[in-house]
Amino acid sequence: MKMGRFIVDTHVHAQRFAAGPGLKKENLDAGSARYNDLAKVIRHLEAYDNSPRLLYDMECYDVDMCVLLPAFGMSNELNLQIMENNPGRFVAVCSATETARKAREEGIEWTAEAAAKELDALLATGKFVGTGEGMPANASSKRTVGMTERLDQLRPIMEVVQKHESVVQVHSGVVMGYPLSHHYWPETLNPIWMADMAVEYPDVPIVINHGGLQGWWSERFYEECLLLAASHDNIYLECGFYWAELYEKPLLDPNIGAEKLLWATDWGASIPFHSQPGHYPSSYPVQKRSEPLPRHQVDMWGWSLKQLLKVQCTQDDLNLILGGNAARIYKLEVPHTRLFRPIGKHLNPQEEGRITYAPICC
Ligand SMILES: [Zn+2]
Repeated sequence: MKMGRFIVDTHVHAQRFAAGPGLKKENLDAGSARYNDLAKVIRHLEAYDNSPRLLYDMECYDVDMCVLLPAFGMSNELNLQIMENNPGRFVAVCSATETARKAREEGIEWTAEAAAKELDALLATGKFVGTGEGMPANASSKRTVGMTERLDQLRPIMEVVQKHESVVQVHSGVVMGYPLSHHYWPETLNPIWMADMAVEYPDVPIVINHGGLQGWWSERFYEECLLLAASHDNIYLECGFYWAELYEKPLLDPNIGAEKLLWATDWGASIPFHSQPGHYPSSYPVQKRSEPLPRHQVDMWGWSLKQLLKVQCTQDDLNLILGGNAARIYKLEVPHTRLFRPIGKHLNPQEEGRITYAPICC
């Protein structure tokens, strides 16, 4: 049985890296390389179109649509091409990839203003539904970036997204294999910093990638993300890597509810699952630093949808999590009006005249 009326994964990578050649250049062997090795070369790898496997999984799991995200070394152009090749199946968010490339390959200093300018031009094409994955950052620096400096970097980006009445994604969580630090995405270790952005830009929907749980079994960042979602109308949480029990708090919380959750895994990323039957949680996503990189396409949707099967909520709530919220926030075309239950006025900027959303809830 299909799990919902209109299913959208809002965090999908349709591009994949062939890591072998890049690892070879560093005298590393693909068969024995670890995540740390991959992290060293990932920004220099060429991504290829992995949409045939994605379309196969969409068929398997009845996923109607995906939001495509570029990540390190992936391109906006290839995502647009995949969209054009498969009308109605994909939309994409954009990233300031050219600014990052110039800093990496040409030694041109990375600035938030340059990244914002690039995003401004990309959003002006009307071909993208938001920005992501995560907020632009300086990948070429090994300097610790503190809260005030980082928020100053984010403001020009927020202003551009506000101007285009679009959506911004902010990264949170750590997946253990790639060493995420305060050099690149300090907010990934401090999601609570986004409270300032939510207050300063109340009309910009802020989607927290992974909702605090990209991997591992600690609930620390998840708790911070719940606080953000509960206290700011414009903050939404991706939840595709939540194990079943993690849905309880947001669904019970009168200030969060199903309307703030987006089903979003990290389809296409190299993240396996660890199983520990009899313990809590019985399985969870995590990269294992001591083991070689997984060579197969990890089945994220099977795992994630099975977690949702255990969640006690109404089908109307599940429909919001699985696609209704995505349709509202990313302005997706849906087959009919009135498919999703109405949401609170405070979460419907259309009613407040701030942003025009597709009239899917009325
Ligand atoms: Zn991702």
